[in-house]
Amino acid sequence: MSGVSDSFARPINYLRISITDRCNLRCVYCMPAEGVRLLPKKEMLSFEEIVTVVRAAADLGISKVRITGGEPLVRAGVVSFIGLLSRIGGIDDLSLTTNGLLLGRQAQSLREAGLNRVNVSLDTLRPERFRAITRGGNLVEVLRGIEQAQQVGLSPVKLNMVVMRGVNDDEVLDFARLTVERDWHVRFIEMMPVGQRGYQADYVSSTEVKERLTALGELVAQGVRIGNGPARYYRLPDALGTIGFITPISECFCAECNRLRLTAEGGLRPCLLASNEVDLRTPLRKGASLDELRSIIRQAIFAKPEQHHLAENLSPQDKRMSQIGG
Ligand code: SAM
Ligand code: SF4
Repeated sequence: MSGVSDSFARPINYLRISITDRCNLRCVYCMPAEGVRLLPKKEMLSFEEIVTVVRAAADLGISKVRITGGEPLVRAGVVSFIGLLSRIGGIDDLSLTTNGLLLGRQAQSLREAGLNRVNVSLDTLRPERFRAITRGGNLVEVLRGIEQAQQVGLSPVKLNMVVMRGVNDDEVLDFARLTVERDWHVRFIEMMPVGQRGYQADYVSSTEVKERLTALGELVAQGVRIGNGPARYYRLPDALGTIGFITPISECFCAECNRLRLTAEGGLRPCLLASNEVDLRTPLRKGASLDELRSIIRQAIFAKPEQHHLAENLSPQDKRMSQIGG
């Protein structure tokens, strides 16, 4: 498989697939309290349609697939779907991003179906605060899910924390300490303005988080890459796990971007932070051949912009993060 590069010579080998826009939470940075207009079921790609897209993408050199949502574990049939994906030749890394609420009861079957690992979004270790940030979630269930994922071998477990000033930024040391005794990768994510105009007052840069973490000791940069994403990793002295920083705002990593996104309604989105999408659902439903699908996927890859334009205060307004998948 030769692999495809975009028009800026970036090799594209990673597809993030949102399998639903539904979610059992309403995190404050992701969805408005009233929720968003949900896609009618018939407008969502079926699992068979997604499998066809992944087959075509794998032929083009896509080898890493991440399943996301909304919350991917609320979609019925997700375990058998993972089983189908895991049997597609050329896909060597199959992962999933979840809020963890349903992970405790599904981890074992997901692992058996062929899922390699999970990222769990967790923004606080305090039950009341968790309820407030997620507008109703139960932290205990998420912690149970993380333990279960670790036990069944969905590892390395990565925890994603979106840092917000005055909301959870007083917990960055607690999160970093988790990596001392657990082989977990804790990643601090800069909050992005997606579907909400302008920068948020509670944005905290990774530079600031990193400075605060020096209270725990020297952060040693890890030369090796962990996973397929943009995080830069460090380790505290003698820690089992690592600390990562995802810095879309303060230090744009567009030059290394290797990904393409598929939305639940079948739009191929070349860039998370730009609104343009290439429609795959219509050709799929008109019976497009794998060859035709490959050519549409190539078209989306070539449409990848060189970088995002958040610095000029241009952010996508067409969708919220829950509708794209993060
Ligand atoms: N429901 C799953 C979850 O929460 O992990 C998967 C979908 S969620 C949209 C994917 C990721 O996007 C999560 O890690 C979440 O924290 C992140 N996210 C959502 N809104 C964000 C924002 N405005 N800025 C940065 N990250 C965001
Ligand atoms: Fe749902 Fe994930 Fe968005 Fe939270 S971050 S509202 S769990 S999709």
